[in-house]
Amino acid sequence: MVSRESDKIVIPSDVQKLLRRISHAGFRVWVVGGAVRDFLLGLLPKDWDLATNASSQDIMGLFDRVIPVGIRHGTVQVLSGRRAVEVTSSSGTEREGIVDDLKRRDFTVNAIALEYPSLKLIDPFGGQRDIQAAVLRGVGDARARFREDPIRTLRAGRFVSVYGFSVEEITFDALRGEAQGLDSVAVERVREEMFKLLLGDYLREAFALMNRSGVIRVVLPEILDGSQQESNITVRQRAYEHLVRCAQLSQKRLRLRLAALFHDIAKLDIRADRVKGHETTDHRSLSAQIAFAVLMRWRSPKRLALAVSKLIENHISTDTHEWSDGQIRRLLSELDIDLTRDLLDLAYADRSSQGAPEASLGEIESLRQRVDVQMSVKPALQIADLAVDGDVLMRELELAPGPVVGKILRELRRAVIDEPALNERGALIQYARECIQSVLP
Ligand code: ATP
Ligand code: MG
Repeated sequence: MVSRESDKIVIPSDVQKLLRRISHAGFRVWVVGGAVRDFLLGLLPKDWDLATNASSQDIMGLFDRVIPVGIRHGTVQVLSGRRAVEVTSSSGTEREGIVDDLKRRDFTVNAIALEYPSLKLIDPFGGQRDIQAAVLRGVGDARARFREDPIRTLRAGRFVSVYGFSVEEITFDALRGEAQGLDSVAVERVREEMFKLLLGDYLREAFALMNRSGVIRVVLPEILDGSQQESNITVRQRAYEHLVRCAQLSQKRLRLRLAALFHDIAKLDIRADRVKGHETTDHRSLSAQIAFAVLMRWRSPKRLALAVSKLIENHISTDTHEWSDGQIRRLLSELDIDLTRDLLDLAYADRSSQGAPEASLGEIESLRQRVDVQMSVKPALQIADLAVDGDVLMRELELAPGPVVGKILRELRRAVIDEPALNERGALIQYARECIQSVLP
């Protein structure tokens, strides 16, 4: 067991207060999990997990705001400042208590405890050594550990993606042997791990691992790398690599990375490329549909699924083309400004991942500037922005209320997006008169 002083760790003051209170009440308490790992990696921990020999009841007695998230496993959440700190009770009163706790954790790098207040590291499984070597190793009998809770096979992918770890051989064999078990894991857990995984720096490595181990076949068969299929291997592999690279080159924003990962997914779909012609003409909307279906399968927020599929549906092709200001306004009327910015970021990553020349990237930059220019003059993009409304039209054109009024308003909106100068009361009424014939049923 390695134990050394680690006085360099910076524990936020609200977490320290929590540690102090538990400790002063006569209980033992340790910082465990991701926070210790991140600190040893020289990173700023995001969330804080504690282990203690106090019972959940004790903890609830010590703090006002406690949520019993996993009482059966002895876990409660203590709300402290703006964060929630998970506190897990381990039964023993001796030091064995913490070792028992660590034994139940997934990987050695996650099975290190920082004792409070001594700040000694308790590291019974060589976690520090593995962090040094950037290796992911299961705690104890890896095969049994993966079987116990198959989400660990996906968590491995997440730690590869976020930290660039590689998976130790025995652990990998165990992982491959148990990957199928993921099909019985709650989709919400899969989703949370996948979302964290997607925000990593090492997506290529993580997807390679997940393909080799069979994890991807269970959680995201849409993005198999193609090595398993007999036909069309090079086409599919090229598409696969493009998607993963594009996601990796995108900024770390979830919906952008999801859009990047799925933007050409239809090109990987066996059913899709059997339908002749689809792969070039309709791959955007097919890809958008596939992404939407995956996100709904994971029970993601519908808002996220819609935003991602909108990005894919509208993604800017890699061919050079001139955009008119009208086209830019049309885009802005369909997507809001944030989604439009994501769309441009997606286009940038898409082109970069294909090794596009400077000029092609410059094109996206200039589009970005033109979007800003358009936004700065606050163009009329919605019906509500028009200089006339339904009442005015009905009065001026002597129309009865009904669907025709809506049709005219939509036509006016379309026209104003094309030609902003038209957005003036007199001009709009005149235009409405001219087009009323074509609009009337
Ligand atoms: P993050 O930085 O995302 O918080 P984390 O490693 O802290 O990563 P959590 O889900 O917060 O991940 O879990 C906290 C700790 O609990 C882990 O570091 C690990 O020790 C343990 N743990 C979490 N999930 C499992 C699991 N499925 N099996 C075993 N141990 C787990
Ligand atoms: Mg954590």
